[in-house]
Amino acid sequence: MSIRLKLIVGCLGLTMVVFGLGLFARSSQQQIGTIATRIYDEALLSLSYLRSAQNSLVKLEADLRDRLDANAILKTAPRLQQDDPKQSAEIRLDDILGDLKVAADRAISPAGGQKVEEIRNRILHLRADRFVSTPAFLQTLKVIDNELDTAVEIFAGDGYRFRREVGDLIERADRQSQIALAGGVGGALIISVLLSTLIIPPVRRAVGIATAIASGKLDNEIRPSGGGETSQLLTALATMQTSIRELMAAQAASFGSQIALQNTRFDAALNNMSQGLCLIDAEGRLIIRNRRFEEMFCGGDDAPAAEAVLQDERYAALFDTGDPSGAIHALADGRRIAVSSEAVPGGGWVVTLEDFTERHRAEARLTHMTQHDLLTGLPNRRQFRERVAQALLRRRGGRNVAMLSINLDGFKAVNDLLGQPAGDALLQSVSARLLDLAGKGEFVARIGGDEFGIVKNLRLDERPDALAEGVLAALSQPFDLHGVPATVGASIGIALADELADGEAAVETLLKNADLALERAKSEGRSTYRFFEPEMDAQLQMRRKLELDLRGATDRGELELFYQPFVDVETQTITGFEALLRWTHPELGPVSPAEFIPVAEASGLIHAIGHWALLTACQEAATWPDDLVVSVNLSPVQFKNRALVHDVVGALTAAGLPAARLHLEVTESLFLQDGETVAAMLQAFREHGVGVSMDDFGTGYSSLGYLSRFPFDKIKIDQSFVRAVDQRDNHAIIRAVIGLGRAMDIAVIAEGVETAEQLAILRTAGCKEVQGYYFSRPRPSGEVAAAIRQFGTLHGRRTGGARSPHDRLAPAARLAAG
Ligand code: C2E
Ligand code: MG
Ligand code: MG
Repeated sequence: MSIRLKLIVGCLGLTMVVFGLGLFARSSQQQIGTIATRIYDEALLSLSYLRSAQNSLVKLEADLRDRLDANAILKTAPRLQQDDPKQSAEIRLDDILGDLKVAADRAISPAGGQKVEEIRNRILHLRADRFVSTPAFLQTLKVIDNELDTAVEIFAGDGYRFRREVGDLIERADRQSQIALAGGVGGALIISVLLSTLIIPPVRRAVGIATAIASGKLDNEIRPSGGGETSQLLTALATMQTSIRELMAAQAASFGSQIALQNTRFDAALNNMSQGLCLIDAEGRLIIRNRRFEEMFCGGDDAPAAEAVLQDERYAALFDTGDPSGAIHALADGRRIAVSSEAVPGGGWVVTLEDFTERHRAEARLTHMTQHDLLTGLPNRRQFRERVAQALLRRRGGRNVAMLSINLDGFKAVNDLLGQPAGDALLQSVSARLLDLAGKGEFVARIGGDEFGIVKNLRLDERPDALAEGVLAALSQPFDLHGVPATVGASIGIALADELADGEAAVETLLKNADLALERAKSEGRSTYRFFEPEMDAQLQMRRKLELDLRGATDRGELELFYQPFVDVETQTITGFEALLRWTHPELGPVSPAEFIPVAEASGLIHAIGHWALLTACQEAATWPDDLVVSVNLSPVQFKNRALVHDVVGALTAAGLPAARLHLEVTESLFLQDGETVAAMLQAFREHGVGVSMDDFGTGYSSLGYLSRFPFDKIKIDQSFVRAVDQRDNHAIIRAVIGLGRAMDIAVIAEGVETAEQLAILRTAGCKEVQGYYFSRPRPSGEVAAAIRQFGTLHGRRTGGARSPHDRLAPAARLAAG
């Protein structure tokens, strides 16, 4: 039963008890009222009517008696005789009868009423009697009077009984009120007790359980009974207790598995650390160690047990926890161990130990590698610079520093022709010879591919010539490259620190100066050494100016192509022209291609200039007789452009020139770059029908080697051989080359023929074609037509006419004269 229902039932019960007792008390009061009214209405009124009837009877008796007496003595007769005694007696009797009627009607008890009715019947009898004023009559009245007394007594008795009933009633009502009050109080008490026993204990029990649950006690016995709110509350508490218990059990289970998982992870982490790790307690005992720790200290035969590692003398220094963290200890067994220790809250230390031995070695190796050349083991350019910087710093008290920049002559040829292993062997031998040579105060390094450097400390009055000569001599001796003998030379550039300051800029300057001197040595015939001179720097400045001015020279129309004819020795007719670049600088005037072509190559401008030359030459040649070829020089740098073949074909197409009428001149230096790419491009030219000539043949180191690698159409014997053709060696070389060409079916042309004598010798040697000032200097395009007219072509007729100022004598006449 719900609490509300219980309260409602309790209150209703209480109300009903009080209401019932009220009703009870009220009925007693009503009863008392009724009785009181009857005492008044019936007992008193009927008694008074009875008394009134008795009085009338008594008077009637008295009157009649008087009348009887008068009759007897006749003295009072007149008045009596005046009215009828019977009539007046009847009137009186009627009154009495009326009063008795009222009294009878109001009689309380039937006995009273019956008595009065008896009396009335006697009176009615009497009224009918004619003989009033008779003693009998009077006697009857007397009897009636007595009976009236009896009636009064009965009525009075009834009244008294009433009064007693009222008294009883009042007493009873009073008792009932007391009973009602006591009943009400008792009922209320009973209901209160009932309510308190029904509602409060379960609620109190629920509160107790809730408090217990709240305080963490979860094994409360909860027994919900009945179906009220307290039962629901208890059911809810039971559910709550179960839920909390389950939740806690689940949490405990998951916490347990988490701890297990964490332990596994912790173990995995600990044992997979690359560092050794141990935990030492405040008493210096080993508490935890990982696998790496055991590997580090418990591996060998004489190794201590893990627990004894801390006490082992060999490792004492590692576990001296007062040691600053991160210190690296060198152990007696050669290992290097970095230790870092950290105090643990609550006492003890965590010590991590890292074996740096390998890393230390690797670092040392790496340092060596970053500072040395792998192939030769010599210090590299980086270390060389550092040494130069140090040498500059230390040259105090009248000392000087010299830097030698040594470049091998022909290293590329060795590499290309004998293979890279031979090239490597050469570099290693060179480095060995240089080291042999270097004395105290001399530092040797490999500072580039085939470039070596030496720093030498000098007295101020000392010169490094002896060293340079020694290097040249040492490197000019034949090398044995895996059984193949090879001879290379070297060029050396030397820079002296002299007044140079210290620091990076000075190192830079010294390196640059040595390089400039090296360039000079190379350009002056190699196998020699040159000191840096300030004018070399001026030349560098000039090159920079030229480079700047060369940009846009084509657009400004400053570049031009001159054409120098090839002449057939037999017929003395023109077979074609070589296109040669000319630059008229706005301030400097004509600049030699020997000067500006290297600048164009170094700056990359050669691509645009070379392309322009190709287009222009092809267009010019298209206007010539169709048995004449045009020969265009290509720089090795142009071969770095993959579109070169495409450009060449494009130039032919644009000019409408047959491919066979175009020749491309390349020099041996072309083969210093990627051989396969170059060969593929040359092959592509041939496949398009374009001729390829090898220019300046004989100035390189392995001209013959290159000939065998690519089928050239023409060899151009360098003018240096022609110029001194009268020397026996040169003569022999020229004859050999001509013979070679014939054997290999390659045309041969001699460049730089200036004299009839040269021409005659060449002719005798079997040279079929020549080029040189003897016949014509390079001419502007405007003069080409005249030259063609003058010399004629093999198939065309010579037209004769004026010769160019350069060609003062007819070649035929010269020949005849020679
Ligand atoms: P090269 O290709 O060997 O050209 C021949 C050089 O010898 C030309 O010099 C020419 O004027 C010169 N020469 C011709 N006959 C005689 C002679 O009888 N005696 C003397 N002493 N010299 C003679 P140039 O025109 O000064 O050209 C020099 C070099 O510049 C050329 O040598 C060539 O390598 C390069 N060059 C010229 N034009 C171009 C070009 O358009 N492109 C490229 N890449 N190089 C060019
Ligand atoms: Mg040429
Ligand atoms: Mg040449």
